[in-house]
Amino acid sequence: MGIAFDNSYARLPERFFSSQMPAKVPDAQLIRYNDELGKQLGIPEDLGMFSGNHLPEGAQPISQAYAGHQFGGFNPQLGDGRAILLGEVVNDHGKRRDIQLKGSGRTAFSRGGDGKSALGPVLREYIVSEAMHALGVPTTRALAAVATREAVMREEPTPGGVFTRVAASHIRVGTFQFFAAQQDTEAVLELVNHCIARHYPQAATAENPVLAFLECIIEAQAMLMARWLPLGFIHGVMNTDNCSISGETIDYGPCAFMDDFHPDCVFSYIDRQARYAWGNQPTICHWNMTRLAETLLPILDPNAERAKELAEGALGQFIGHFQEPYLNAFREKLGLSTEKDLAKSGTFLKSTLGTMAREEVDFSLFFRHLAAENHVELIALFKNPESGKTWLNEWQSIERPADSLVKMKAVNPIRIPRNHQIEKVIQAAYRDDFAPFHRMVEGMSDPFTEKAEYADLEAAPLPEERVQNTFCGT
Ligand code: AMP
Ligand code: MG
Repeated sequence: MGIAFDNSYARLPERFFSSQMPAKVPDAQLIRYNDELGKQLGIPEDLGMFSGNHLPEGAQPISQAYAGHQFGGFNPQLGDGRAILLGEVVNDHGKRRDIQLKGSGRTAFSRGGDGKSALGPVLREYIVSEAMHALGVPTTRALAAVATREAVMREEPTPGGVFTRVAASHIRVGTFQFFAAQQDTEAVLELVNHCIARHYPQAATAENPVLAFLECIIEAQAMLMARWLPLGFIHGVMNTDNCSISGETIDYGPCAFMDDFHPDCVFSYIDRQARYAWGNQPTICHWNMTRLAETLLPILDPNAERAKELAEGALGQFIGHFQEPYLNAFREKLGLSTEKDLAKSGTFLKSTLGTMAREEVDFSLFFRHLAAENHVELIALFKNPESGKTWLNEWQSIERPADSLVKMKAVNPIRIPRNHQIEKVIQAAYRDDFAPFHRMVEGMSDPFTEKAEYADLEAAPLPEERVQNTFCGT
């Protein structure tokens, strides 16, 4: 039985994409195949397919056109420079999924790049996207990781890889910007209709479907921010071309889970202005939504003034969609979910985050140790134990349900994919040892359960292990 491809994006007008065969890599080796996901999609293990060497029947390989704001500056011509969409499959729940190869050679959008990927970023995206899924965050998924056994030229010759990514779609804010920048309103409308059918069918029957569509994405993105922040997740490169219309987390280049908490924490080496710092992410997401709304103005309403009003109204909903789930997530983390007074919880959260930043406590361990029977380990996280005791006294004075510790453990992960561990995994892989990679993927698959055999993956980095910067994985 073949794969049941149904390639709706390839049926859109030709200016939406460019047909592109993946490059062949004859010595490729399969590193990992995601058996569970493969079964759901009806895609069996197939090195030929995951390396780009063999095109399965029904695939229709294309690279997609898009534009984007990168660090605030507009680039009208980006596109899949190192990615090829093989096609779409619809699983038994009627869910449509893109199957994309990342790192399989040059495309019409490669500009100066080689279209390839180093193996390190492939393994990193595999680990982090599957960890995000296990943590319950909407995300693209990892179907396979392949080592090409060819060197790609980066700062030095580096082992190459191909990643098979699965997504609800790869349509981005930047896809809309690509057509809007060319005043191609017809294409924008066509893209809206495609996205409504695919992601937000409820918008189709609204009085103004374009407005309803915009509101749906704004809600999905606001909810996504409300999931990222309580996990200490920093995306690192929230450019509009990395902002998905489906509301999934996409592009795990320079991302990180914070170790020591600070709202201004930023990892990405190229993010010199801390534009994409932890605490800035909701603001940037709203900025990205504003860029999306701009592309829709000509089709929101024939009257330009009215169109602007509608867009502003939709954008105004962002904060409401973000704030309550954000606060509720932190209330659950702190065991305060039954506390009626929302404003009081908000004030306590603010002062807690302030204390955490001043005391340089490890973000994930703080919440996890708070859920423990005794608080010796929690207090040890504080630079100054007296501040820890003061904070703890305040927390203890708030009434909580009897089963709060159990509930807190269910929302506060003990294992998150920490950068210093990912770094070790990559270094081992470059020595041809993939055991640490497999172990890390497995350790992250059940992040809320204590498991003695993974104790090393729980620990915060030692000072000498700390990763200061992450780089765009190319
Ligand atoms: P990203 O950092 O993955 O969001 O990529 C930003 C843009 O640069 C996209 O248009 C990519 O396709 C392109 N790009 C990144 N790396 C490469 C590469 N090695 N070869 C060609 N294009 C690339
Ligand atoms: Mg990208």
